[in-house]
Amino acid sequence: MKTIGLIGGMSWESTVTYYKIINEVVKQQLGGFHSAKCILYSVDFQEIEECQVRGEWEKSGEFLSEAALSLQKAGADYIVICTNTMHKVIGLIQQKISIPILHIAEATADVLVKQGIKKIALLGTKYTMQQDFYKSKLIEAGLEVMIPEANDIELINFTIYQELCLGIQSPKSKKEFLRIIETLAISGAEGVILGCTEIGLLVTQEETEVPLFDTTIIHATKAAMDAI
Ligand code: GLU
Repeated sequence: MKTIGLIGGMSWESTVTYYKIINEVVKQQLGGFHSAKCILYSVDFQEIEECQVRGEWEKSGEFLSEAALSLQKAGADYIVICTNTMHKVIGLIQQKISIPILHIAEATADVLVKQGIKKIALLGTKYTMQQDFYKSKLIEAGLEVMIPEANDIELINFTIYQELCLGIQSPKSKKEFLRIIETLAISGAEGVILGCTEIGLLVTQEETEVPLFDTTIIHATKAAMDAI
């Protein structure tokens, strides 16, 4: 079995889900007492979030490169960055290590393409929704990407940083997210990517008819399947 190197803590709330899914998939696939061989480097998210707000992406890339290098030295066969947003600096991290990084948007695009989806909506932080680093991966895979309207982008971003990353899941935000998901489907999206690793803690597939693609589940499942 390969050893997975997880860069977590962004936020730790969603890293818990990664750890759980990775072990569940390994157990499901191999049975018995099997569990995942993995190493977790959990960062202090305050440091990363401050870099984001100040636009200091290179500095945040240095923090994460240090984590990736430690994981490589500790014996990881590949790296999983447990957040969508910080894939913005995947290039900086990859430069510092010789083991591969499993890209969250590529893993998600693979699932969408396999399901024959053409037009997809993307929810995530404002960086993920508005900048190109993430959407470009989906577009390269042949997908048409929709994002919510400006007010809803603000609402989603606020909810991610002021609630979900702090462990708060409010019924009011759940209602708003479900409204946004329905609106995007009415506007033509065949499904919605939960492109922030905490959104799955707020809304789940059981709560809407619109097909949801939870990047935490997709990424963690792929990480586990690649290990066995
Ligand atoms: N976990 C989130 C994501 O998947 C947001 C936290 C972060 O900024 O990394 O994008």
